[in-house]
Amino acid sequence: MRVLKLGAKGTDVMEIQALLKKIGYSPGPIDGYYGTGTRDAVIAFQKDNDLTADGIIGPQTYKIINVLLRGYDTYYIQPGDTLWEIAKNYYTTVNRIVTANPGINPYELQIGQEIIVPYGIDVVDTNIDYTYEIMERDIEGLKARYPFIEVGSAGESVLGRKLYYIRLGTGPNQVFYNGAHHSLEWITSPLLMKFIENFLKSYTDGRNIRGYNLEKIWKESSIYIIPMVNPDGINLVLNGLNRENPYYEELIKWNNGSTDFSNVWQANNRGVDLNHNYPAKWDESREAEIELGILGPGPTRYGGPFPLSEPETEAIVQFVKNHNFRLVLAYHTQGEVIYWRFNDLQPPEAKRIGELFSEVSGYRLGEVYGIASYAGMKDWFIQEYRRPGYTVEAGRGKNPLPISQFDNIYNDNEQLLLLASVV
Ligand SMILES: [Zn+2]
Repeated sequence: MRVLKLGAKGTDVMEIQALLKKIGYSPGPIDGYYGTGTRDAVIAFQKDNDLTADGIIGPQTYKIINVLLRGYDTYYIQPGDTLWEIAKNYYTTVNRIVTANPGINPYELQIGQEIIVPYGIDVVDTNIDYTYEIMERDIEGLKARYPFIEVGSAGESVLGRKLYYIRLGTGPNQVFYNGAHHSLEWITSPLLMKFIENFLKSYTDGRNIRGYNLEKIWKESSIYIIPMVNPDGINLVLNGLNRENPYYEELIKWNNGSTDFSNVWQANNRGVDLNHNYPAKWDESREAEIELGILGPGPTRYGGPFPLSEPETEAIVQFVKNHNFRLVLAYHTQGEVIYWRFNDLQPPEAKRIGELFSEVSGYRLGEVYGIASYAGMKDWFIQEYRRPGYTVEAGRGKNPLPISQFDNIYNDNEQLLLLASVV
């Protein structure tokens, strides 16, 4: 963690601004710029926490902020403690503490016993630029709150970042949702992460969402979610190019000499467009690329030297092969449209299910023509399994969609995400 102070810029600043706001301070706009508003909020936070009130986030202040960012504390039971009191002190509920500590007996707390106490704030922020590190911490935070969920890694990216998956439910009906094959479409990662958090929150509180019985879904289905298929690309777009990146020189060359990736880069860190790298009419995809003058690594649409040349796509394919998915949703932005066909290999029910998705999301069902119609994740899934696979193009506007669209996108897609697990 770098020291943050007046004038600093970055996704780390943004994350801390969002946290300060969430816990009741006024850092000003959540814009990733450490201005006087943020400094004053940090000073107020430092005073409340008996820290040196210098308005600078150094190791001492960060230590406390980090605990809040991950959303839970480790607490040792003191004489006279009750869970009700602890819950009150952390602005949380007894139920949340019990959920995070399976087997705990509220009436027989042992002095010195170590427990996890989730703060009464949400883990997943939906008002910030969502980097890989933020997602990783959110996953850790969710796993601490809901220790019964299965979390794992489907493989690694070019730069060795994990392709995390989270599984909701234990039932035999397996479905698979993934997000952010494309770097500029990173808003689909917090979409899926927020869905996971809201699902778990309601499930453990015994509540329904939009009339869907979560307990029933949990028993009958297993929803496997990989929220970020392209973490290297996303960090490149959101954090910029790091000097230590082993592809530093090449990336600049592939980006037509520019060090600004923020509005153009869709590929992974080897300049391969992951959603053009699947073995589903890959040769035709290649021909279309050549016609467009795309002959090698670059910001978008280069399908790689051969199908599944990239560790990210290879990991997704292995992950699918290791399961028995009845249906797949691949999230992208933008257009408010759902693609459902591939080479007419999709099963007859694919259209009917697509129409239901269209109904609950307000998105239209679309046909794909040209270069976008080959070598994608859902294309490969349909071809390989003859089961329903969908590309959902969420939101509307120019990529990257601003995070200010999050609430609309979430609202449009929440029911679709529930429905896909039972349809
Ligand atoms: Zn896309």
